[in-house]
Formats: sequence, structure tokens, C-alpha cells
Amino acid sequence: MPRNHTTSYYAATARPYTPFDRLEGDIDTDVAVIGGGFTGLNTAIELAQRGMRVVLLEANRIGWGATGRNGGQITGSLSGDTAMSREFRRSLGTETEDYIWNLRWRGHRIIRERVARFGIACDLKHGHLQAAMGAKHEHSLRALADVAAERGMGDEIRYVDQVGVRDLVDIPLYTGGVLNMRNMHVHSLNLAIGEAQAAASLGVRLFEDSRVTRIDHGARPVLRTAQGRVTCDTVMLAGNAYHNLAEGRMRGALFPAALGIIATEPLPEDLARQINPKDLAIYDDRFVLDYHRLSADGRVIFGGGTNYSGRATRDIAAELRPALERTYPRLKGVGIDYQWSGQAGIIPNRIPHLGRVRPNVFFAEGYSGHGIATTHIVAGIMADAITGTMAEFDVFDAVRRVRLPAGKWVAHQALALGMWYYTLRERMDTGRSAR
Ligand SMILES: Cc1cc2nc3c(=O)[nH]c(=O)nc-3n(C[C@H](O)[C@H](O)[C@H](O)COP(=O)(O)OP(=O)(O)OC[C@H]3O[C@@H](n4cnc5c(N)ncnc54)[C@H](O)[C@@H]3O)c2cc1C
Repeated sequence: MPRNHTTSYYAATARPYTPFDRLEGDIDTDVAVIGGGFTGLNTAIELAQRGMRVVLLEANRIGWGATGRNGGQITGSLSGDTAMSREFRRSLGTETEDYIWNLRWRGHRIIRERVARFGIACDLKHGHLQAAMGAKHEHSLRALADVAAERGMGDEIRYVDQVGVRDLVDIPLYTGGVLNMRNMHVHSLNLAIGEAQAAASLGVRLFEDSRVTRIDHGARPVLRTAQGRVTCDTVMLAGNAYHNLAEGRMRGALFPAALGIIATEPLPEDLARQINPKDLAIYDDRFVLDYHRLSADGRVIFGGGTNYSGRATRDIAAELRPALERTYPRLKGVGIDYQWSGQAGIIPNRIPHLGRVRPNVFFAEGYSGHGIATTHIVAGIMADAITGTMAEFDVFDAVRRVRLPAGKWVAHQALALGMWYYTLRERMDTGRSAR
């Protein structure tokens, strides 16, 4: 049985669309993509634009995974950018910093163009605040704004001090921040549904309720679902934290972390305008951060904390309410209409994991909670690789990977311990309750 979208704000306000059929019978194609989240959808679009015949198989519904459940913040964070500087240098030498800087904005352009070209209604808006909670964050955020200015983006990205922040948002916790008008926010599930329809319009054959249960490898792999088979030249694995087909070098590289998120009741218009007058998406600068923004209908969508055990918390609203009320004191006692969680794919060094497990089986996964823009970037790199242009793929493929110990329980304990260490160190640095 396919599982319907989770009980999120996004699912409740999703654009109605005609469901895609379940795969029945045998079909033949150039590339078979497994997973209907941003990675799979956008790889399919990019491949179709390069003239390939593409089939996409989704076990549940389009955007059922992290893609349809996230915070909706489209930022220039590549998550593992510090590690990237070190690792990419071995392939790119002195071009590394330019490459990473340009890469971090590529996803914004792709999303804007896709939304415009296919007329996708998904509440896409510009404006983001990366907030400081103490001197250490202020220092690093000032440096970030300086780099943006040096690179000619000073008109879009600038540092604001504590007084400046209070003009932007009514959040006394914040002591400074970077205002970024290139970053955006979005109704993520509606973007995914629009991209699925865009893919279909380009000739991609999409199927929902079509879980791949087995791959028979060979010169022409055969993917099996309950009622059908796809024979193809190349497979693209895009199941991210929900995949069940890991093999070879994928094993032990990615760990699912459960992220909880809530949406309040719609706020009265004047209250929404008081707390966030510029309609910014916001996250703070901590290692395990809180992220929040207003929805199109005036709710606060608030996420934070991470459960590295991989298990979802039962009462997410109770867990997140203290952080919500600490951030927005005016929202004390506000009603919470939706609570849900999703699995993000965490990679220990936080560099997205791109590679192949066999010559004709590619994969891309592990965006460590910063995947909306990154999946759109990675999709182009994967489509290039599948069609024979390997340069960018090879840069990611050459990254040295840390593998956590075998066995899921041991691995989660190791990861949780590592994250606990970073969180504790941060609490000591900021002198605040960093949760
Ligand atoms: C709560 C939460 C908040 C987040 N907030 C943000 C944010 O604000 N900004 C940001 O940039 N990123 C955010 N992220 C991360 C971002 O959502 C993800 O990085 C991104 O959506 C990953 O997309 P994906 O396509 O790789 O994986 P997913 O969206 O998880 O899609 C994988 C799909 O593969 C399917 N699948 C798995 N196995 C099979 C199989 N065998 N056969 C067929 N289909 C299969 C699944 O059903 C699923 O639909 C957040 C993530 C979570 C969980």
C-alpha cells in the first residue's frame, strides 16, 4: 500500500493533482530513477532535457519524503562547505573557493527558472535572515557578509547589528545577523508537485505507488515492483534517507535523522506583520539550529532540534513549543494545528554523497538538512554524469568518506555522541540554552 502524504501543513494545502499511475507491466527506458523527491524529480527533468527517455518510480506519492515535509528555506548553505574547501582542493586546486562560491547560488537560479518556465504556484518568496545568538556567531556572520561584499553581492547580502535585526523581526534572542535577499522560501510540496508535472510535460514517465523491491543488475538492469518491471541502461538511486536499496559504498555513509516541525494556527494579520514584517525565512547560526518562517496563510512554521537516534518524537508540538515561545514571546499559548516529522539524510562530513555502486548505477544522497537548493544543483551534475560529462561528478566522487561503524544501533549512538559533543561545545561558546 502506498503511504499518503504525512499530516503536515503542506499536505493539507497541497495543490490537487491527478495521481500518477502505478507501474503495471514491463517497460523499457534509457534511465530509471528511483525516488520522487527533489533529487529524483530534478534528475529526471535534467535527463529529459538532455534527450533521454526516463522513467521515475516513487514508492508512495510525489514529494512523500523529506521533500514534502521540510522547512521550505532555500539558502546558499551547502551544509558541508568547510569540509568541501578541504576535500575539493585535491581536485580543483586554486579554483576551489570560486567553485564553491558559485555552486552555492546555482540552485537558486535553477528553482527560479523552473518555477517561471513551468508556472509552478508554490508561494516562492525572497528574503532570509541568518541570525546570531552571541558574539561568536556575530563574528562569523560578519565575515560571511564581508565575503559576499568582496564577491560583488553586497547589495543582496549584508550584516545587520542587534538594532538592525529588531527592525526586521521581533525576536529579542537575536544579537545580529545576515540579511540575504537572494535566499528564498517556498511551499516545498507544491514545488515538487509542479516539478513532477513539468517532468511529465517533458516526456518523463512517472509512477506512484511503485516501490522498487529489487534490482537485477547487469548490462541492462531490471527494476522490479509488485506489478511491473523496468528494463533500462542506467539506474539513478534517489531514495535518500528513505531508501532500502543501499549497497557497496553507500553502506554506512548516510544516517537518517528524524526532524520535527510544527505549524501554528493562522495568526491575525497584524500579529504576523509585527513579528516578521518583511516575511523572511529565518534560521539561527547554531550547529543544531531552529528554523522558522510564515506560511502564505500566516502561520509560523517552526522546526528545530534533531533526533540523531533516527526515531521520530511522538509529541513534536510539546517538544518544540518551548523553543517557539522563547523565539516569539508574543506567541505564548498559540494554537498548533499541525505537527509532523521527516527523515533527513545526514553525512558525517556533511558533503553530499554522489557516486555509483556499479558502472551503470548512480546515486546522490545526504544533504544534511540543507537539501532544497542542493538537490537542484546535484540533479544537473548527475544528469551530466549519466550522459557522459563527468567533470563535476568526479569532484564529489573523489571526496574521502567517513563510514560509521557497521550496525544501525552502534552507528546511531556514534553519530548522536558526536552531535552531542558539538552541541555542548556550542552551548559553552554562546552561554545560552542551545537545546
Ligand atoms: C523536517 C525537515 C526539514 C527540512 N528543512 C529544510 C529546509 O528548510 N531547507 C532545506 O534546504 N532543506 C531542508 N530539509 C532537507 C530537504 O528536505 C532534503 O534534503 C531533500 O528534500 C531531499 O530530497 P530527496 O529527493 O533526496 O529525498 P526525499 O525527499 O526523502 O525523497 C526520497 C523518495 O524516495 C522514495 N523511495 C525510497 N525508496 C524507494 C524505493 N525502493 N522505490 C521507490 N521509491 C522509493 C521515498 O518514498 C521518497 O519519496 C529538511 C528535511 C526535513 C526532514
